[in-house]
Amino acid sequence: MQSLTRWVHGRLLAFYGRPRWPAKYEPLDELVGTILSQHTSDINSERAFASLKRAFATWESVRDAPAHELVEAIRAGGLAVVKAQRIQAVLRALTNDHARVELQDLRGMRRQAAVDLLTALPGVGRKTAACVLLFGAHVPALPVDTHVHRVSLRLGLAPQRATPEATADLLEAALDPRQYYAFHVNLIRLGREICKAPRPRCEICPLQVRCASAGAAALRTSRGGRRYTASRSSASRAAPASNSA
Ligand code: SF4
Repeated sequence: MQSLTRWVHGRLLAFYGRPRWPAKYEPLDELVGTILSQHTSDINSERAFASLKRAFATWESVRDAPAHELVEAIRAGGLAVVKAQRIQAVLRALTNDHARVELQDLRGMRRQAAVDLLTALPGVGRKTAACVLLFGAHVPALPVDTHVHRVSLRLGLAPQRATPEATADLLEAALDPRQYYAFHVNLIRLGREICKAPRPRCEICPLQVRCASAGAAALRTSRGGRRYTASRSSASRAAPASNSA
């Protein structure tokens, strides 16, 4: 599986190019943005995040806001009541002795320690933690969302019954951490454009020659086999790919 994963990475670089990995450090923005992205479209969650930033000047003011004000600010993202509770719970958990919202600098930590710190926050799972590291802190991590999971199982990069967490472990072990960003972004792009949930377009797929499901995934799906649903992907925040591999 490891050599296949590395082969997939190389083929996708040749096909899509190497996406530029922005060196920004805004982990709290990414954390809140990822909470807002749950169960909604990219457009709606981005609207909700922009509205939140317009309405509140600091994370402390978000934490201390009356619930109805925060709900109103993020209404565009859907499930506003639940998401407002989650955001305020996370911000309260990150409040230090001086009543400031503070997240320890993730860049100087061992990666597993950073994952442990993030997943200890209320409602933060492995995928959200990986998004915060990869997109918000420029720290290598490999978020396994519905696209990455679906395509990985179809390709045979993980066993058919592997959970997203087990799939993340396998993918991370197969690749150099410096490859995680490009692999994640390119695999999601493949999942959106070619290896789609209901009907993969194997006939135009650059991975067809070594795919365990080439030509069969669409058949299984049309017969009522396991279906996958697409959700907002962190790759929507990725920088555009260059053409150079
Ligand atoms: S060959 Fe088909 S099933 Fe395999 S990755 Fe490509 S589109 Fe998906």
